[in-house]
Amino acid sequence: MSLKEYTKKRKLGITREPPGIKKSSGKKLHFVVQKHSASHLHYDFRLEMEGVLKSWALPKGPSTNPAEKRLAVNVEDHPYDYKDFEGAIPKGEYGGGEVIIWDKGTYHSVETKNTEESEKLLFDGLKKGHISFILDGKKLKGEFALVQMKKRGKNTWLLLKKNDEFASSEDILKNAKSVVSGKTIEDLKNGTPKKSKNIV
Ligand code: MN
Repeated sequence: MSLKEYTKKRKLGITREPPGIKKSSGKKLHFVVQKHSASHLHYDFRLEMEGVLKSWALPKGPSTNPAEKRLAVNVEDHPYDYKDFEGAIPKGEYGGGEVIIWDKGTYHSVETKNTEESEKLLFDGLKKGHISFILDGKKLKGEFALVQMKKRGKNTWLLLKKNDEFASSEDILKNAKSVVSGKTIEDLKNGTPKKSKNIV
């Protein structure tokens, strides 16, 4: 999917999220998990690849427990700068509701730490329906995989935690605060300073 779909859905100028511009981050590949209180509360898992954010909606959020496979619905690519968006999308707009940056950090392929090679391996893997990667976030760390459930339609994937030193049966979602502002979705709903943190 390209950014076209994203741009189509956004009425630019009305909402405060970044417009769809391709950008590269430089040295390391970034990821972000945004907690999004839209019509249904979900988490958006986004991986930087080829200048955009490949995106999956996680209805139940991520888990650090290898026994819990989490549904990940592939959605349209988002612009790279969207990783810094936290705030409220006006009601009635696409994705209307509050967004916090639940986690963020860098990541690379399990096979290499080299950014260029990682990007190539991940991009190829994406087309094949299976990628394995190491997250270095504030909350999520260690090896994860995204696996396409081809029989259930091309957008249906699972996010899995691999067994490593960062695997845990504790519910990571209990830590509900933004890693950027320390705010929760509820803080945003209650109208504490309505600043959205984004790059224009
Ligand atoms: Mn969302």
